[in-house]
Amino acid sequence: MVLKRFAKCPVCTKKTVLNVPEGIIGKAKRFPFTIKVRHNDHYFYINLDSQAWITDILKPEMVE
Ligand SMILES: [Zn+2]
Repeated sequence: MVLKRFAKCPVCTKKTVLNVPEGIIGKAKRFPFTIKVRHNDHYFYINLDSQAWITDILKPEMVE
């Protein structure tokens, strides 16, 4: 199953729908769980809580 989550891309500032695979949370050892999201020709990161809700949206330079 895929969960729909809405986020505003911090790079291009456009709103986007993210398809978060539900199983991804099962792999997390602790929360928030950070995943990398590809958006067009760039990417950003989101933090997910244990229900796969977005708690933070991060620019790449905030993570790397
Ligand atoms: Zn973007």
